[in-house]
Amino acid sequence: MTNPVHAPALVELKDVNKHYSTLHVLQNINLQVAKGEVLVVLGPSGSGKSTLCRTINRLETIDTGSITIDGKELPKEGKALANLRADVGMVFQSFNLFAHKTILENVTLGPIKVKGMSKADAEKLALSLLERVGVGHQSAKLPAQLSGGQQQRVAIARALAMKPKVMLFDEPTSALDPEMINEVLDVMVELAKEGMTMVVVTHEMGFARKAADRVIFMADGQIVEEASPEEFFTNPQTARAKDFLSKIL
Ligand code: ADP
Ligand code: MG
Repeated sequence: MTNPVHAPALVELKDVNKHYSTLHVLQNINLQVAKGEVLVVLGPSGSGKSTLCRTINRLETIDTGSITIDGKELPKEGKALANLRADVGMVFQSFNLFAHKTILENVTLGPIKVKGMSKADAEKLALSLLERVGVGHQSAKLPAQLSGGQQQRVAIARALAMKPKVMLFDEPTSALDPEMINEVLDVMVELAKEGMTMVVVTHEMGFARKAADRVIFMADGQIVEEASPEEFFTNPQTARAKDFLSKIL
């Protein structure tokens, strides 16, 4: 959580536009995320939050504009894309762990395959990350043997194993039973405190208040408001944001 004004932009979107056939899902998006900044993305369902996240690591293409990570434009394909994508860790609502691999294998796979790390080094790294998110003792199990909250913490460890420069979280607690939400948010708050650059789509306002440096509010494919969490929650400017907040607070 550094001062966003003085830190260089780690993620930069310039005039980004994207359509799904006739739907203009991202409309002229301009956004900078500074190194160490925690940006929370809010907005009603269908406003383009997931699409925004997915374009940042090229799970989705864009029509026009540019997206750079640490000053480098995302390559279209091939090894260069795999390398740059490794800079962008992503955690989804559905944990997306490999069901037939152990927890340890889920975390070592990327470092071995993409980064060419030795199995021994990858396992050492994986175990330390699994410890850090509180599931070190589960490493030999299969994902289905873990609770949802534990699986999501493994997914965070898996993303961290690639040593990303920025972590994207797309509603990471939305699929969890209520009693498991905090164990995942606590890990995210720790990451934020350690200085990780994070883009977090969430409806967890407690997290936004506690960890966000800045909030953007999206509606209909546009960034409608951009403010500190304090400002946004106490004094939203637009009718759309007021309506949104009245429904979730
Ligand atoms: P959010 O995450 O804010 O709920 P999304 O980014 O998932 O919003 O979706 C924004 C809009 O784009 C929605 O209207 C959704 O139906 C549409 N959309 C999302 N993905 C696709 C797709 N692959 N093909 C066509 N339309 C899509
Ligand atoms: Mg979404």
